[in-house]
Amino acid sequence: MKKPFDIHQFIRPNVMSMKPYASARDEFKDHQADLVFLDANENPYDTGYNRYPDPQQIALKSRIAEIKNVPVNNVFLGNGSDEVLDLIFRAFCEPQKDEVMILPPTYGMYEVLANLNAIQILKVDLDTDFQPNVDAILKQQSSSTKILFLCAPNNPTGNSIDEDKIEKLLHGFNGLVVIDEAYIDFTTKDSWSVRLQEFPNLIITQTLSKAYGLAGIRLGICYASEAIIRILNRIKPPYNVNMLTQEKALEDLKQTALIDEKITKIIAQRRWLVSELENISFIEKVFPSEANFLLVKVDNADKRYDQLINKGIVIRNRTNQPNCYNCLRFTIGTPMDNIKLLSALKQIS
Ligand SMILES: *Cc1c(COP(=O)(O)O)cnc(C)c1O
Repeated sequence: MKKPFDIHQFIRPNVMSMKPYASARDEFKDHQADLVFLDANENPYDTGYNRYPDPQQIALKSRIAEIKNVPVNNVFLGNGSDEVLDLIFRAFCEPQKDEVMILPPTYGMYEVLANLNAIQILKVDLDTDFQPNVDAILKQQSSSTKILFLCAPNNPTGNSIDEDKIEKLLHGFNGLVVIDEAYIDFTTKDSWSVRLQEFPNLIITQTLSKAYGLAGIRLGICYASEAIIRILNRIKPPYNVNMLTQEKALEDLKQTALIDEKITKIIAQRRWLVSELENISFIEKVFPSEANFLLVKVDNADKRYDQLINKGIVIRNRTNQPNCYNCLRFTIGTPMDNIKLLSALKQIS
C-alpha cells in the first residue's frame, strides 16, 4: 500500500529554504488611491503602463476561478502553460538526480523542459489505441520518479484518456500527476479540476492559447492544491504575467459566449473534415479526435507533407513518433482554410 501523499517530500530543498523575492507591489497590494508610490523605481508619468502589473493577477484569477468553477486559491497563472510546466519542474525535480515519466507520442515540451532542467526521462509509450499502459507505468516508477505527465486530450493523437485509467494512476502513482488539458474545451469530457479536492498529487494545466484564441498573449492556467499553488508562487518571476495580457484576457473572458461560438464552429468543422477526409484515396485512417486537430495515417507521410507544402499548406509530420508511422496532423482551420486543405489533398491524390 502506498503511503499518503505528502507534498513536502517532493519540494526541492533549495526551494523549501529560499526566501522569495518580495516585490514592492506585493507589500502594499491593498493600496488606497491616495498612496504615493515611490517604492519600485517606476517612471511617475502616466503611460497607462508605467506601473508594474499585479504580481498576483487578482482580478484575472478571480474571473477564471468563476468561469471554471475552481476556488481562486487553487489557481496559478503563468506566461503560457509552458512557463507553468517549467516552474513545476523547478519546484519538484532535483537536477541530475530526479526523473519524470512521459507517455509518447505526446506534447514535445515535456521532454524539452526535462532536458533543460537536467532531469532524466522515462518513456512508457501509449498503446496502439493511444491509451496509457497503467501496469507498466506503475511498475517502472522508482523513488526518483517525481512527476507523471498525462496529456488529455493528447497532442498529437487527439484522443482523450480513459477516466478509469487516469484515476488508477492518480491513486497508484507515488508522485505528482500533471494532466495537461490544453484541448479540454473541445471535448465533452469534464476537466479533472472538478476532482481536485480528492487528489493532493494532482496538477492540471490549461491555456488560453487554443480554444480561447489568445495564443499571442501567453496565458497559462494551473489548478492544484493550495500547498502546491503556494510553492509555485514562491518561485515564479514576480511579474510573470504582464499588464497587457491581464487586461486582454479579462476583457475576452467577459464575453464567453463569443468564445463558445467559435469552439462550436471548430467542432462542426472537425466533424465535416473527418467525413471529407475519408474520400481521399491515400488517407488510410482518420483517428478519432476530441481536440482542434486531426491525426491521419497516409501512404507516405514525408511525400504528402512535401506536396502539401508545395501547395502552400503547412501541417505537421508526426511520422517519427511512436505508433505514428506515416501520420500527419492537421489543425482545424476556418471553413475557407479547410476547403483549401481538401482541394490540395484532392489535387495530390
Ligand atoms: C498548445 C499546447 C500547449 C499550450 O502551451 P502555451 O504555452 O499555453 O501556449 C500546452 N500543452 C499542449 C499539449 C499543447 O498542445
